[in-house]
Amino acid sequence: MTSIRLNTNEAWLYPEICEVIRLFLGDVEIREDAGETRITHIHECVSPGVWRESAESCLGRESVETKQTLSGGLEEKRQIKRAAKTAVFLLLSKALNRMPPWGSLTGIRPTRLIYEAMEKGMSAGEAEKWVMDEFYVSKEKASLLTEIIEMQKGFITPEENTFDLYIGIPFCVTRCAYCSFASGEIGNGRLTEPYVEALTREIRSTSHLMKEMGLTLRAGYVGGGTPTAITCGQLERVLDEAMTAFPGAREWTVEAGRPDTIDSEKLRMLKRQAVSRISVNPQTFSNETLRVIGRAHTAEDTLKAYHLAREEGFDHINMDLIAALPGETYMDFERTLKIVTELNPESVTVHSLAIKRSSKLHERLTVEGSSHNQANAEDADNMIRLARNMLKDGGWKPYYLYRQKYMAGNLENVGYAKRGHACLYNIGNMEETAKVLALGAGAITKWLFPRERRIERAPNVKNIEEYIKRVDEMTERKRRLIKEDTQ
Ligand code: SF4
Repeated sequence: MTSIRLNTNEAWLYPEICEVIRLFLGDVEIREDAGETRITHIHECVSPGVWRESAESCLGRESVETKQTLSGGLEEKRQIKRAAKTAVFLLLSKALNRMPPWGSLTGIRPTRLIYEAMEKGMSAGEAEKWVMDEFYVSKEKASLLTEIIEMQKGFITPEENTFDLYIGIPFCVTRCAYCSFASGEIGNGRLTEPYVEALTREIRSTSHLMKEMGLTLRAGYVGGGTPTAITCGQLERVLDEAMTAFPGAREWTVEAGRPDTIDSEKLRMLKRQAVSRISVNPQTFSNETLRVIGRAHTAEDTLKAYHLAREEGFDHINMDLIAALPGETYMDFERTLKIVTELNPESVTVHSLAIKRSSKLHERLTVEGSSHNQANAEDADNMIRLARNMLKDGGWKPYYLYRQKYMAGNLENVGYAKRGHACLYNIGNMEETAKVLALGAGAITKWLFPRERRIERAPNVKNIEEYIKRVDEMTERKRRLIKEDTQ
């Protein structure tokens, strides 16, 4: 099946159904007017208050019924959506004889479902069973969720009158082949100075806003890009400004992701600025893969940077890894995991490679054809399971999880940490339980209105030059949103 003709009599469900089809068929073409295989979804009323969602094609037919109060409210829509997705999911699962590990779940944070179920009075065990029965989530993934929720206890709800802060530095030394971020190559560095000027201006003006609102910083996070790609002096100015503007945070993380951007001078400066947590990201310890993915550094550079960070006194280092990189086998990934567990960082984030359309890798694998094929879904699944087991044996526990589109094997990204080393920012941001003020090009402020349980977004423009020109407008955008928050 390389193209699908999909029709539904409820247009608002079209994108949702496409997501389910992609769970099975990946980045397949889906159109209303043509396609090799036809799938039709029908939403119909079978008796007062009872709706039927049917999915049919030459592959078979599946139906799911829901009882409604006929209020037409959000909850009713949600149930119809779930039932429609389930019908299409069952149709494809039976026809292709496959059960994706996350079942029919798309577009929702899986932990949120567990939290919602527990709020309705279910125990963790009951909630685990409910996601398995209702959404066909595998036992393995369902227990991963309850383990995460156990780890998040005590951190999930930030203290009142606090916010978390994200500062984006969107420059990198070279562009990784799988990158889909709006970060730019640093090139001759002509934009870094005006960028730092604009960013420090945004830090100062939003610090006034936070004071007016009576909010204090809980967790700060400097990401990118690669923050350590700019000069030591420039990064120090940003950190100095941020620490002065927003004092008293419980943690500060700086992504020093690319080992080729780390040296003793920068590490000492980060220590001086009271940065509590840094990331040194190997992604893989295979030099061949590093070359293929365009990282422009070697595995030896990663080891050197890691040991240097330890020598400079960092006692919380995170390492990011990617499973299912092009050309990598299970044994390559196992070797990477062995090295990481021996290094013993305080936290490890395991990603499943997501090949987004905007990445160079997507072009290489799909348009040009490449000799470095990505691992298949089964291999990716085995790699992710291996990571979980090896990290568990070494004392790391899963503490946050998110899924993205186009991930290898429809899997997940999981943050693991040793006891006492979970990153507050990551939990608050992923679970959407914190108010997140985000500064810099492409950064998205996600403001939580707890009473109404809604999140509103205020995105900054992605283009670096536009951001520099329009930084005051970005602050104003945030001011308008945050001033609504009177709770
Ligand atoms: S380091 Fe991260 S942001 Fe920079 S190019 Fe690579 S994936 Fe993109």
